[in-house]
Amino acid sequence: MKEMSLYEKLNILSDAAKYDVSCSSSGVERRGDGTGMGNCRKAGICHSFSSDGRCISLLKILFTNECIYDCKYCINRSSNDVVRTSFTPEEICTLTMEFYRRNYIEGLFLSSGILKSPDYTMELIYAALYRLRHVCNFQGYIHVKAIPGADERLIRMTGFLADRMSVNMELPTAESLRLLAPHKSRKNILAPMRFVQEKMKENQQEIMLYRSAPRFVPAGQSTQMIIGATPETDYQILRVTEDLYKKFDLKRVFFSAFVPVNEDKDLPSIRDQGPPLLREHRLYQADWLLRFYHFEAEELLDEENQNFNVYLDPKCCWALRHLESFPVEINRADYYTLLRVPGIGYKSAGRIVKARRWGCIGFEDLKKMGVVLKRALYFITCSGKMMYPVRMDEDTITRNLLNTKERLPEGADGMTFRQLSLFDDMGLGGVNTG
Ligand code: SF4
Repeated sequence: MKEMSLYEKLNILSDAAKYDVSCSSSGVERRGDGTGMGNCRKAGICHSFSSDGRCISLLKILFTNECIYDCKYCINRSSNDVVRTSFTPEEICTLTMEFYRRNYIEGLFLSSGILKSPDYTMELIYAALYRLRHVCNFQGYIHVKAIPGADERLIRMTGFLADRMSVNMELPTAESLRLLAPHKSRKNILAPMRFVQEKMKENQQEIMLYRSAPRFVPAGQSTQMIIGATPETDYQILRVTEDLYKKFDLKRVFFSAFVPVNEDKDLPSIRDQGPPLLREHRLYQADWLLRFYHFEAEELLDEENQNFNVYLDPKCCWALRHLESFPVEINRADYYTLLRVPGIGYKSAGRIVKARRWGCIGFEDLKKMGVVLKRALYFITCSGKMMYPVRMDEDTITRNLLNTKERLPEGADGMTFRQLSLFDDMGLGGVNTG
């Protein structure tokens, strides 16, 4: 059989990587005009936001789309008849360095199917990263997958070469994994996650003692879960998410709306409806509330309300169920109370607290501070007065809020929504939950 060219491999292995959202892809298809460096059409290049708000491009590829496992939801599962190929570590380096030199990318996102065994695959990934860092002297960003089941020594050595590592949860519960990914187990997935967490902690102590100590996964670890392939409710998914943040110190949990690529009796038939993007969007909003707004999963959903309202964002829903806590007086409420007001984000809450040291704040000032008044006006007073006379009644406020359309995911309402941040997004961009 004819040997595949590097370009052919790139086409196959970048296309196979597109289902992994733990590096958010913008799907931009902008051609360069030939006068400068950079072209968004290069295969496998996706866009993410760095912690300082910059949009950065990553080469997003699989090491191989060969796989010994047969996860029912995956295009690369062993039982699928697709063209298979693998890079060599040298080819990964060539692509990364060539794209980097041409200014197409600022980093690499490397995932993989399981070739022969988890150890064998992890060794290849390590070899590629070692070469990139020590032979090619590549100093750009690298996000790499830790392969569940691989030897901890390999994960550790790889972690010293990468900026971020992720182990995919795949599905929210152990039962779902058993059903759709029978070769994987919850235990196998959580073990490397715990290992990375412990090594990161140890490394922080080493760095405190010896400032020049090498850094292990300095940009932290993340994971992703497929949403909508199995019957878990938003409440279950959010509780798992909260647990992951609390118990494993994850930087991000990514949700990936289930995209049907295989016919299987155990998979939902949602071909006609398309991926559950609006549900994914609500989960991201709730995730934002957990991480930056001091909400607990139990406050947002419970046994009686197991799924998010499709029409209203999670913070508005929470506020409507707790009207006894409103209206909040803008000139007196503490920062944490302000955070809970629909339409007030963490940036605007900070601005309010700062600005009111110098005098009373009115509705016009709030607008300038970035408060979304069309949502906030039902829940606040300025110097004791509401913006308009409002009946504090759930039905009335809900009807009014529904008239002020929020931005919904593309496809859900023909509108667009913002790209999600990849790194530690504290204080910068991301999903609007305000
Ligand atoms: S391990 Fe499962 S999800 Fe990953 S590439 Fe193989 S079949 Fe796909």
